[in-house]
Amino acid sequence: MPFVVAGLLMWLTRGWWLFGLGAALGLLWLMRLRGWALFLAGVLIWLAVTVAVYRDPQGDFANIVQWSWPTLLWVLVLGLAGLAATRLLQALHRRSAARLADAPGIVPARPAAPQAASAQDDGLDRYARHIVLREIGGPGQAALKRARVLVVGAGGLGAPVCLYLAAAGVGRMTLADDDRVSLSNLQRQIVFRTADAGRPKADAARDAMRALNPLVEITPLNRRVTQADAELIGQHDLVIDGSDSFATRQAINAACVAAGVPLIAGSIAQWEGQLTIWDPARGAPCMACIFPEAPVQGLAPACAEAGVVGPLPGVIGSMMALEAIKLITGAGEPLRGRMLIFDGLYSENRVMKISRRGDCPVCSGAGGSGHFRQG
Ligand SMILES: [Zn+2]
Repeated sequence: MPFVVAGLLMWLTRGWWLFGLGAALGLLWLMRLRGWALFLAGVLIWLAVTVAVYRDPQGDFANIVQWSWPTLLWVLVLGLAGLAATRLLQALHRRSAARLADAPGIVPARPAAPQAASAQDDGLDRYARHIVLREIGGPGQAALKRARVLVVGAGGLGAPVCLYLAAAGVGRMTLADDDRVSLSNLQRQIVFRTADAGRPKADAARDAMRALNPLVEITPLNRRVTQADAELIGQHDLVIDGSDSFATRQAINAACVAAGVPLIAGSIAQWEGQLTIWDPARGAPCMACIFPEAPVQGLAPACAEAGVVGPLPGVIGSMMALEAIKLITGAGEPLRGRMLIFDGLYSENRVMKISRRGDCPVCSGAGGSGHFRQG
């Protein structure tokens, strides 16, 4: 109704060109112009059109603005062409997105881990908020129960990953860390309590996860994961890397590429974090495609030297857990072929497209063309 009234007013005042003004502002809005800048742009366009019509009231431009039959036809043709182009672009975007999407998830059909369900807790009530989600539902929750996830590093990133995935009911989780809990960890590694100081991290995290959800099976490994662990990695559907050294990340990347297992990797320093899914078997790049060499000494200092704000690993680690749930249940569009960069100091998010390198020393021989799901 408001549109009819506006159209009638524009017809009466011969102000049809205001539709054009609206379209121009819409374009500028798409180009991320907002607020006062958008308003000013509108005023400037309006002023320019008014002055142009005033200076030459019988000219072509005035005819277009004041609407004549040929203009109407032109606008119709251009509008239809624009619509067709938009539809085409949308279809192309959907196709490239579908290429990297991996519905219905990465977990094959297999018996789920036996669960110590009690009379009060068979999971139905516990996972009720997942089950009502259209994108997860019963089948997604069953996939979570069947899933086997390896978490490397029970530190700042590993803490929310462990807690959220245990809470979400990921059936089998292996947790690898060779470190012990120290007081300086507690500022951000929220899976631990003060009383855990001195205990092996993998054991302390396992106890916290078990207290949160006794239905999941957790295997702690009090050691590092190395490149020789391809077999261990091959026993899992998904690896989540929250370790803090480049050498470890490199080794895990190589082992995941060899086993064809997707790898969710996050990293943090000071106020900024980033995450992505390395997965050359399904079209996404591996870590060596993007970071072929270790950063120069001092350019990427560890948290111990550079510091890190407490909630930052919580933000990035929670996003890693979210990507894991999406991968396992097949919901939405995971961060394959895209890297999310979060700047906590200025509250800004950026997503970059990243792609495989044909000459990558780690993954160029492995995986498929990336257009089709493997295995
Ligand atoms: Zn690669």
